[in-house]
Amino acid sequence: MDIVISGGAGFIGSHLADTLLDQGHSVSVIDNLLTGRIANIQHRLGTPRFQFFNRDICDPQPDVAGQVYFHLASPASPVGYGRHPIETMLTNSAGTHRVLDLASRDNAVFVLASTSEAYGDPLQHPQTEDYWGNVNPIGPRACYDESKRYAEALTITYVREFGVDCRIVRIFNTYGPRNDPNDGRIVPNFITQAVRSEPLTVFGDGEQTRSYCYVSDLVRGLVRMAFAEGITGELVNLGNPAELSVVSLAHLVKQLAGSSSEIVHLEARPEEIARRRPDISKAQRLLGWQPEVPVETGLAKTIAWFREAGRL
Ligand code: NAD
Repeated sequence: MDIVISGGAGFIGSHLADTLLDQGHSVSVIDNLLTGRIANIQHRLGTPRFQFFNRDICDPQPDVAGQVYFHLASPASPVGYGRHPIETMLTNSAGTHRVLDLASRDNAVFVLASTSEAYGDPLQHPQTEDYWGNVNPIGPRACYDESKRYAEALTITYVREFGVDCRIVRIFNTYGPRNDPNDGRIVPNFITQAVRSEPLTVFGDGEQTRSYCYVSDLVRGLVRMAFAEGITGELVNLGNPAELSVVSLAHLVKQLAGSSSEIVHLEARPEEIARRRPDISKAQRLLGWQPEVPVETGLAKTIAWFREAGRL
């Protein structure tokens, strides 16, 4: 099949491209490298069935066509959308509009990469897809979570108005090789600090919990989401339901990296999310999907990647 990935030079998108190419599909990546890296797709450049378009997804894409569109373009980390708040909002609004139009024109499947941030600071645990969330529309994360919510609303409107075969995924914390060590996300941050023998910095008391999904599990879920029959208009959580406090993660990374770093506590950040954990029963039911990689295994692989070839 011909498959288009917006944001395909990013962390998740480049792994998705690798998986689809390995399955024999043709992949076109559209990415302006705002937060992605050419190094993530370097090994694919000039190889059969792979095309890279270095441009903004908000712009016209006259030479792109496909039977499946994965829309992943968007800064994804607090550092990324903190640096590029306007681009984030435009990519999730005008960019989503652009890809939906392409999918509609091509009678294609459209998969939106939304986020657990759509739940905000949730008052329900774990989060099921029918929970509407607790989001501050003018808070520090608003450029990201509100524009993702807009993208979801636009997507479901294309289903209702034009019958486009859209599916929405709410992705929870995902980590793995190709994580950007400088984007402030918790796993790459702890690994960078541990490998460099710097203190591991925990915000607040570290009792806030997160769930951590290894990237190969997530990509398997995304692919199932695109190819499953009869799920037009469905919204599905993808993430690892195993909950771990931030301070426990710090200890685990330190141990797996064999690091002598100390763990230090910094002042809690404004609007720090207390708990987030996906209910994945819908993904299990609709897609037969659940994560398979234990956090110890995924972290060990990620640490090895960071160490490889002197990346840190
Ligand atoms: P990433 O920053 O590594 O990848 C995003 C890619 O989109 C980058 O390569 C960037 O250059 C590209 N991009 C941004 N704006 C663009 C534009 N206007 N035109 C073209 N390309 C553009 O982030 P990621 O972690 O791979 O996230 C991918 C998607 O998954 C995002 O939509 C993100 O919101 C979602 N998501 C990720 C996580 C996670 O834990 N990694 C969690 C929830 C949701």
